[in-house]
Amino acid sequence: MGLKENIEGIKARIEKSAALSERKAADIMLLAVSKTVDTDIIRQAYDLGLRHFGENRVQELQRKIASLPEAHWHMIGRLQTNKVKDIVGRVQLIHSLDRWNLAEEMDKRGQQAGLEVPALMEVNISGEKQKAGFAVNEVEAFLEQAAQFKSLRIYGFMTMAPLSDDAELSRPIFAELADMKKRLGKNSYANVELKYLSMGMSDDFEVAIEEGANIVRIGTALFKK
Ligand SMILES: *Cc1c(COP(=O)(O)O)cnc(C)c1O
Repeated sequence: MGLKENIEGIKARIEKSAALSERKAADIMLLAVSKTVDTDIIRQAYDLGLRHFGENRVQELQRKIASLPEAHWHMIGRLQTNKVKDIVGRVQLIHSLDRWNLAEEMDKRGQQAGLEVPALMEVNISGEKQKAGFAVNEVEAFLEQAAQFKSLRIYGFMTMAPLSDDAELSRPIFAELADMKKRLGKNSYANVELKYLSMGMSDDFEVAIEEGANIVRIGTALFKK
């Protein structure tokens, strides 16, 4: 299978899952995770209609932005505080805001650049120790503190389900994050607009969409040969 067939196949599956959850496929962002992929393939994917690309390393992200500046780039990987300055103003959305001091740095660098810094809070729903993200019981307090930010804006949540062969095991994780968005979305917090749920990857994006994801981050299934 080629890239074109992969893209068509994924889009058809997104369509189907969206219909199951009574939503439109157009409301679900397909974020192509291009971290293992060369720039010529990314260019082909762009020419085939993909617009959003995600990377998990700052250096590679910078290199790829330079090669395809017309695409929308997303940072989805662990972010060191000293690298924040390298991506502020260059990415559409940072999905991996996972700790308070990173938020402070993002806010500071945004102010210095005179730019808004859009981000999602990464939430460690599964509670695995090695996993990044805010604990479930830290999220509400963080949103209350968001009032003090000048540049950082919180647009929703991101999570990763535990690795597994069975997508159904991801369902309760996704459902819990969707529930959190619904519950906290009833409150109003300054500098917060809970509109995105970034969840679901190659092996579980359909379940994620059924549970309410509106950004799916797909690498392997798109770019496999
Ligand atoms: C690599 C990666 C993905 C994509 O994973 P696939 O299984 O290849 O679709 C999604 N999200 C994050 C944070 C990743 O690092």
